[in-house]
Amino acid sequence: MTTKQELELYIHIPFCVRKCRYCDFLSMPAKEEEQRRYVDRLLEEIRQQGMACREYQVVSVFVGGGTPSLLAGVQIWELLEAVRNHFRLEKDAEITIECNPGTLTAQKLSFYKSAGINRLSLGLQSADDRELHVLGRIHTYRDFLESYDTARKMGFANINVDLMSGLPGQKVEDWANTLKKVLALAPEHISAYSLIVEEGTPFFELYGEDELRRQRGEEPRVLPTEEAEREMYGITLEMLKSRGYQRYEISNYALPHRECRHNIGYWQLTPYLGLGLGSSSFMGNARFSNTRKLDNYMNEEFSSKQEQAAVSYLDKKQQMEEFMFLGLRMMEGISRERFEDKFHMTLESVYGPVLRRLQQQGLLEQCGGMVRLTEAGIAVSNYALSEFI
Ligand code: SF4
Repeated sequence: MTTKQELELYIHIPFCVRKCRYCDFLSMPAKEEEQRRYVDRLLEEIRQQGMACREYQVVSVFVGGGTPSLLAGVQIWELLEAVRNHFRLEKDAEITIECNPGTLTAQKLSFYKSAGINRLSLGLQSADDRELHVLGRIHTYRDFLESYDTARKMGFANINVDLMSGLPGQKVEDWANTLKKVLALAPEHISAYSLIVEEGTPFFELYGEDELRRQRGEEPRVLPTEEAEREMYGITLEMLKSRGYQRYEISNYALPHRECRHNIGYWQLTPYLGLGLGSSSFMGNARFSNTRKLDNYMNEEFSSKQEQAAVSYLDKKQQMEEFMFLGLRMMEGISRERFEDKFHMTLESVYGPVLRRLQQQGLLEQCGGMVRLTEAGIAVSNYALSEFI
């Protein structure tokens, strides 16, 4: 019996009710008719790519966006049915859908159940209605509670809640309050990111200057100070740990055995195939992406992923960099043995001087066969990880 290679699937739904003010994801509002045509197109792509991926076993599916829960429940069901029919989907594959409060109903959740979805990721960001308003979110905290409660009642036993700290006008106690409210619900998984003020967003117009002030070491006017951000980071660790959550990646925390399999696969360089507008793929050391233009996506002929013009192959050095850069995001770090098996070179022979330097700075440690960032290294992870590139 031959073992099939593992594959992760990502399906992108680029539609949202309206654009949040901090958002630079590939997402947009669209009429129902356009959403319908997009789903038809996705079904076509799933059929076609499934034929080209027969040698793979799909171990996780992640329906992300945008706001996938904006689509009708039956449309999500159709997409997953097509995945089942055209790919080899592992029996106990992790199947996640991203949902936003304000778009989720019991009827949709019931379709998700029958589609085999076993993990929900709810975009809350904050439990404070003032902050939600500033972010331009379409929902209130009460909307979130209703969605969460309905999902639990319908038997969803694996729920992630997305949170964001460092928001305009946010104080340390506001963030602690959000954490407290969410922890009282005991979701299985919490993703806690800091706000990044991205160029090209309304937030950049409003707070770009403030961000610059902060980077220059000056006092920001509306964004939290660096010191406040550090405090928020500290209480996140403390509060989540005290409730039994284990941090397994820089920004991701889970109750025991509830880590997100899809994300871990991504950090460990499991091949993944992206379907839908703008989604990217990584298979056989090649990277390729679908067009980011909706019109083109709707009208172009799909070619086998490997035949796409946008293919770029990673050379060995780039693959090693990715291995280190992504693997060290995980708290358990990277395995020397896996590195050697994969690249037929010792970690020492490639990264010896970098490892020693980071170790001397107290940012990296070696434990058994594993190499990982220390607490101090995680706090300056952008710097520490960039040393491998
Ligand atoms: S819901 Fe998410 S993807 Fe949609 S606009 Fe808001 S942040 Fe962007």
